[in-house]
Amino acid sequence: MSMKVTPREEDYSRWYTDVVLKAELADYAPVRGCMIIRPYGYALWENIQETLDAKFRATGHKNAYFPLFIPESFLAKEEEHVEGFAPQLAVVTHGGGKKLEEPLIVRPTSETIINAMFAKWIRSWRDLPLLINQWCNVVRWELRTRLFLRTLEFLWQEGHTAHATAEEAEEEARRILELYREFAEKEMAIPVIVGRKSESEKFAGAVHTYALEAMMQDRKALQAGTSHFLGQNFAKAFEITYQTRGNRLEYVWQTSWGLSTRVIGAIIMVHGDDQGLILPPRLAPIQVVIVPIWRSDKQEAEVRKAVEGVKDGLGGVRYEFDDRETYTPGWKFNEWEQKGVPLRIEIGPRDVGKRQVVLVRRDTGEKSIAPLEGLKGRIEASLEEVQKNLYRRALAFREENSYQVDDYEEFRRILEGPGGFLWAHWCGSAECEAKIKEETKATIRAIPFQEEEGGRCIRCGETSIQRVVFAKAY
Ligand SMILES: [Zn+2]
Repeated sequence: MSMKVTPREEDYSRWYTDVVLKAELADYAPVRGCMIIRPYGYALWENIQETLDAKFRATGHKNAYFPLFIPESFLAKEEEHVEGFAPQLAVVTHGGGKKLEEPLIVRPTSETIINAMFAKWIRSWRDLPLLINQWCNVVRWELRTRLFLRTLEFLWQEGHTAHATAEEAEEEARRILELYREFAEKEMAIPVIVGRKSESEKFAGAVHTYALEAMMQDRKALQAGTSHFLGQNFAKAFEITYQTRGNRLEYVWQTSWGLSTRVIGAIIMVHGDDQGLILPPRLAPIQVVIVPIWRSDKQEAEVRKAVEGVKDGLGGVRYEFDDRETYTPGWKFNEWEQKGVPLRIEIGPRDVGKRQVVLVRRDTGEKSIAPLEGLKGRIEASLEEVQKNLYRRALAFREENSYQVDDYEEFRRILEGPGGFLWAHWCGSAECEAKIKEETKATIRAIPFQEEEGGRCIRCGETSIQRVVFAKAY
């Protein structure tokens, strides 16, 4: 298992797959395009879940669970929605040995089935806002799949809310976008650009979509989460009305938002190196691994005793003591590096004598001596420093590979060469957007919120009110 991963420079895509497999995050399933999330990868997902779930609860959302199957007729109720998802649907036509009267769709997302219930539950202004979240799996029949990044079935959370006014729904969509941004930057240590999507990139059925975009080490963008303002599109399709305080009957205003196991792909591609995975300490299933070193039974007894003391002092830190006898310390170092554990403690007979341990950081490889006295504080500080350094490093990389471009030839040259995030003026026309995509494979990743001075569209020269971010994307 401890073979080296393919270097990033040699083949970035193989490097990615090597890291996923060797770190034992996931494996290929017997069903084409599906994946098995292995315990180490699932523990990472559980940490992501726990952290996000606490944020959702703190902002008033409640978890619920809706069925995996959706009647086919439900999807047809919102025209853009069904058009957008039709090519990716998995459909159940038989059940219990019989042909079904109405085929069932395996959910690609749950707007339709959840809104069918909202129509029943919402009666008056007193029932609003209704703030629901669900953790579940969804299925989208993708043709080209990659572990975590694009699979037929994936895990995610989907939030669905209903509000009395457009302003409240808009505020909710922005609140969640901000919550995701904070999660990405503070927990995943991934800097993101937030903004609105263009018409062609928005969610099928939304009025507008907000998203987070992060830069991977191959300088491509990855969308790490989306939050949609749905307006009254689904409310009208599903007749979700409420009695106002003034006794009028009105349609509700809605949002939906989601973040999936895809972000694990982002963590791998933003932080990993040629040794393998590097996990941000806040989400790492194992934050510290303790590797003992001994050459005799006498030394083993001494070291084990000292390790017990170390473990007792680590309350709250997620650690693993690797005392497997069949592997050498060097072999273990390599394995835990591949698995991206942020901090390693080495402890041998000489360290025991000096009442110290050796600390090794995964992000920099830096070694230092730490006295047993006050070890927990030192470890917590080191984990925090690794967390911050990962963020700083990713931000510096993104800055180094971002350009303000005003000339289309230069724009094309960058995209054909190193790639990156290109901040350029765009007139707002779908035609220019499509031509740019055709000619360079770059899409508009985000229309940032900051107001900017006007300029000229990079493609046609018409007036533009602000720069948008172009990049090739996953
Ligand atoms: Zn244009």
